[in-house]
Amino acid sequence: MGDVDRGGGLRLVLLGPPNSGKGTQAQRIAAAMDVPAVSTGDMLRRAVAEGSALGRRVKETLDAGELVDDATMAELVRDRLSRPDTAGGYVLDGYPRTLAQAETLAAILDEGGESLDAAVLMDVDEDELVARALARGRTDDREEVLRERFRVYRERTEPLIGYYERLDLLHEVDGVGSIGEVTRRIFAALGVEGGVAAGADGKDSRP
Ligand code: AMP
Repeated sequence: MGDVDRGGGLRLVLLGPPNSGKGTQAQRIAAAMDVPAVSTGDMLRRAVAEGSALGRRVKETLDAGELVDDATMAELVRDRLSRPDTAGGYVLDGYPRTLAQAETLAAILDEGGESLDAAVLMDVDEDELVARALARGRTDDREEVLRERFRVYRERTEPLIGYYERLDLLHEVDGVGSIGEVTRRIFAALGVEGGVAAGADGKDSRP
């Protein structure tokens, strides 16, 4: 697989199980590449916190560790990716999570004459992730809900690994290690020049 072409900006999908550190890595990669990190989980949690119509509609789904329906997600993501700050690329964290969502993303990209540069899979063992999450002791990290989130991940999201593999876009990275180590692995996997230095301090090192 060839290196990622940064010429037209970077459009990246981060895949990985719940609590694999996707959010942290998405922010670091986005900062280094000077593009926004787009986290659908953050967008939905914000909607719930604000008590908006969307928030009231999805609250129970989030609390149960289930997936919000594809149509709602399509609307949310289509709107977000139409804003000017994403014109030069973005790092998607938490989307797509189903094959239907991957197809929606492909359609959105296609309509804009754009294409995805890469999908990065962060590989972390489930038991390690449950232990990490429970150690943090967050109220929404009850083991039962966590296990449900993993079940949903395996059933609905894991098929995306094969989907992106077939499109020759998949890069698999060992997600166990320090935050900086994992960032460096992601940049190395993408073959992005300067990404190592940029990822190490979270700053944009582009000339
Ligand atoms: P996350 O922070 O990415 O783990 O997302 C938190 C929660 O938001 C998930 O457990 C889902 O309930 C919901 N969510 C986030 N992204 C999606 C998505 N792409 N499709 C469906 N539900 C989502």
